[in-house]
Amino acid sequence: MKRFFPLIALFTISLLQPTFSQKKTPSPPEFQAKKSEAEAHMRFLAADELLGRRTGEQGNLVAARYIAEQFRKLGVVPVPGNPGSNTVSYFQNVPFEKLGAAGAGEITADAEILKSGTDWILMNGDEANLKAPIVYASFGLENAAKSWDDYKGLDLKGKIVLVESGTPETQTPAEIVATSNEKRKIAADKGAIAVIELFNAPIPWNVVMRAFGGEKMSVLEGEKATGPAIPHAWVNGKEAKFARALRAAKEVDFKTSGRKSKIVNSYNVAGLIPGSDPKLKEEYVLLTAHYDHVGVGKQGGQPFTPEDSIFNGARDNAFGVVALLTAAEAFTKTPPKRSVLIIALTGEEVGLLGSKYYAAHPLMPLNKCIFNMNSDGAGYNDTTIVSVMGLDRTGARAEIETASRAFGLGVFADPSPEQGLFDRSDNVSFAKEGIPAPTFTPGFKEFNGDIMKNYHQVSDNPETIDFNYLLKFSQAYTYATRLIADRKTVPQWSAGDKYEPAAKKLYGK
Ligand SMILES: [Zn+2]
Repeated sequence: MKRFFPLIALFTISLLQPTFSQKKTPSPPEFQAKKSEAEAHMRFLAADELLGRRTGEQGNLVAARYIAEQFRKLGVVPVPGNPGSNTVSYFQNVPFEKLGAAGAGEITADAEILKSGTDWILMNGDEANLKAPIVYASFGLENAAKSWDDYKGLDLKGKIVLVESGTPETQTPAEIVATSNEKRKIAADKGAIAVIELFNAPIPWNVVMRAFGGEKMSVLEGEKATGPAIPHAWVNGKEAKFARALRAAKEVDFKTSGRKSKIVNSYNVAGLIPGSDPKLKEEYVLLTAHYDHVGVGKQGGQPFTPEDSIFNGARDNAFGVVALLTAAEAFTKTPPKRSVLIIALTGEEVGLLGSKYYAAHPLMPLNKCIFNMNSDGAGYNDTTIVSVMGLDRTGARAEIETASRAFGLGVFADPSPEQGLFDRSDNVSFAKEGIPAPTFTPGFKEFNGDIMKNYHQVSDNPETIDFNYLLKFSQAYTYATRLIADRKTVPQWSAGDKYEPAAKKLYGK
């Protein structure tokens, strides 16, 4: 048999010869992406061992490390000038202040005993056990322009100050939150040892407790040291007897176990693939997907199922990160004309904080960024499509459709518009700057029970992922990006879009 082989080979080649002249340009590398690779990335990133990748925790840092080392292996370039850590780095350090949950405690005023966790929330402050005179200071604000001078003639040294929530003009929840820290600062500057604020907004108290009583992350800006803070309580001001007792009291007992604040670090993982066209490579497409998730154990204060308390975040958003890594691999093999900046973002689940931080501290000029292709997802129930938030607003519908079709996928624009999903992922941090920025999401048409089944649930794990779909999704994402990065003209917001003025400002046209 063996000796016939060369003959057969020759024969075969000669038969194939005529078709050579008709062959099309070879398809780009994303067409050869492997399911096994996509599956391995997914199984690692959403593994139980990563403990739900909660921002700043060990599993989150391991995920960042994994992504960075994939970049290194593929030859993705660290962004020049990224200070990162002390080695050649893909890490953009994002410093966070993490405030622990409101602790236990009691406020006693005029024989009324108010319990922390039911009657009041500690908003800030260290452990304290105070007994001091209480002074009423109206809204606790100073503003010369508006002639607010709530501390006029008051001596706060060594005293507890009682204030109303909000301002004389507004008591909306947003305004109450916005002014609360300022009140604490003014009071502390004047020598007060604690603040008690009578919270009075038209929202149920249990909603307030859920929203503000738990652990809270914020980006730490500048050199701000989290020194000792005076205790600051929001008391349920709708409970008339509490307000009455606090107003009547001459002296108050204020005991709290404190709310511990600590500084934690996490990273945006950033890498660059220089474009192939010398004239266009100064411009770039930004690819983003958040890699953090919500962690372990509790959601909204409730313990979860004992048999599995790890929120793996396979769909949300290991899925998007696999798409980023697929793009990284294809583009390092054959780069598009424009450069591609890939950033795996942290801190999305704690308030889009990684992308907000990046937009405020960009590693490359934002006005050279022609497009942001974000990927994020809650879940999917239709593997014949991809869903794209902002498809009809961001000027690249044709490329996204062509790319999706190439992998047998349809495109569905803006599911559940009433949910405002466009403004609920990291793309919005870039849209606000003016960059056309859709979010590419696994297929669904409605944010309904099917999606909620896995959204922020322990069941969102790799065992329930369709890996064939994961591959096609990642390929379509990559190919769409390539078509956009190769375009002659840059995508534009639809006329009249709410982000169009920002674009005019950013790009100066
Ligand atoms: Zn997400």
